[in-house]
Amino acid sequence: MLGLMQNWPLLIHKIIDHAATQHGGREVVSRSVEGPIHRTTYRDIRQRALRCAKRLTQEGIRPGDRVATLAWNTWRHLESWYAITGMGAVYHTINPRLFPDQIAWIANHAEDRILMTDLTFVPLLEALADKLPTVRRYVVFTDAAHMPATKLKNAVAYEDWIAEADEDFRWIDCDENAAAGLCYTSGTTGNPKGVLYSHRSNVLHSMAMSAPDCLGLGARGVILPVVPLFHANSWSIAFSAPMSGAKLVMPGAKLDGASVYEMLESEQVQVTAGVPTVWLMLLQYMEKEGKRFSHLKRCVIGGSAAPRAMIEAFETVHGVEVFHAWGMTEMSPVGSIGSIKPGLAHLQGDALFDLKETQGFAPFTVEMRIDDDQGRPQPWDGKTFGRLKVKGPCVAGGYFRGEGGNILDANGFFDTGDIATIDENGYMRITDRAKDVIKSGGEWISSIDLENCAVAHPDVAEAAVIGVRHPKWDERPLLVVVPKEGRTIDGAALLAFMGERIARWQLPDDVQVVAEIPHTATGKINKLRLRDTFKDYTLPTI
Ligand code: ADP
Repeated sequence: MLGLMQNWPLLIHKIIDHAATQHGGREVVSRSVEGPIHRTTYRDIRQRALRCAKRLTQEGIRPGDRVATLAWNTWRHLESWYAITGMGAVYHTINPRLFPDQIAWIANHAEDRILMTDLTFVPLLEALADKLPTVRRYVVFTDAAHMPATKLKNAVAYEDWIAEADEDFRWIDCDENAAAGLCYTSGTTGNPKGVLYSHRSNVLHSMAMSAPDCLGLGARGVILPVVPLFHANSWSIAFSAPMSGAKLVMPGAKLDGASVYEMLESEQVQVTAGVPTVWLMLLQYMEKEGKRFSHLKRCVIGGSAAPRAMIEAFETVHGVEVFHAWGMTEMSPVGSIGSIKPGLAHLQGDALFDLKETQGFAPFTVEMRIDDDQGRPQPWDGKTFGRLKVKGPCVAGGYFRGEGGNILDANGFFDTGDIATIDENGYMRITDRAKDVIKSGGEWISSIDLENCAVAHPDVAEAAVIGVRHPKWDERPLLVVVPKEGRTIDGAALLAFMGERIARWQLPDDVQVVAEIPHTATGKINKLRLRDTFKDYTLPTI
């Protein structure tokens, strides 16, 4: 027997309709790419998204077509997502930090029809345009006054282009399982693979993310996503902020410490979210300038492991609660987040930071397990590690165009490629990515643990550990470090410092001091490139 409730499909445009009706005057504040701070409201965002949707329809875009966006976090970018999904098309976010050839590869794979972009990326696209045959128009997120002369095909300023349509448009009425967004994985092995989100998966993920144990959003909230819209749906914030009526503050192109700090302060932001590298820049800026937060309450850190020293700096120096989160493009992306359960609320000092260092527990919509290589579930004891697998309505069931074939195991779980432990309270700790873990004499050494230990040293700004071939032990860890500004690092002293905190056999065999560690397009340490840099390196212990 079926229930007798209404069938109200979970469609993305219902979010902006709700925001306009219930929180219409709530502000969306952006640092525009042109420079000045721009202010608008959810009501206006909806009106302009309707225009943009109508204009896309006039342009011949049909439901299911892909419309690419290669842009910073601003109100125009946000509008375009509601417009694209509201007329049934699919937004395809492109990460501008990818290599140009990778951008061309994914735009061709996606067969993008229109490409919307910022002024910043016009030169990049001009150099690439010959390789993008499917794109028939470029829309630049700017107005006539700032529109550059460009040879890009049918290039037009967004403001002129949407002015050619009015707001008399009806959002599409479609199946909630219809495709809504496309985001390619970083593709550290093989070609990038497209994750195709549906209206339903985005709405459910955003509802889960709004909850108090996640972003904790509400109508009185103020959130600044440093995490870009092109980084896996900005971790839901493009949807969860309007859904809850929170004021949305968009940092535009400026993600340096001073600029992010300025917006956090001037807009009285309470919650923010981003990858460790941006917090590294922010904390260094604040330390140098002696700055403090006046409104910030919560900082969600994810995308790669948040070092304990960073968590401690936010919590003890700045009084900001850190929620360490884990996820991946395939999961919409958040898979776990580190709020404190009531039975653990008494924890303090080191015991509390031990917990905060884990990647937290899975919110509703995510089922999680750790399996051994034979697919047998492992105990949740905080010690036994296994392959981390996930299942749920916001987890990919396959890749775009069937790339990679069947990606689910016999139980319908997706193998994340991460190695993790889960404790009796459900707190999950990523030990490593399966391909980054260092296999030394039959034992596994977590590169993440070593990196966290190294950055706890007062002279170390950033650390990365890679496995280097060893004739006896197979692999041994090599530590690569970047000193803090104005400091020098003595390798032997650093190893002595680490020796007081971790087991001897896990200690790196050598320390290499470098000016910079390479990062991937989503701000993770690029171990592939680092391994390549040190491919001819021989350990001193050999
Ligand atoms: P994205 O680019 O959206 O961050 P990817 O799918 O490229 O996602 O990368 C996901 C991977 O990033 C995870 O499988 C995991 O290895 C790593 N990761 C994400 N968050 C964390 C975290 N908090 N701690 C450790 N690793 C993390």
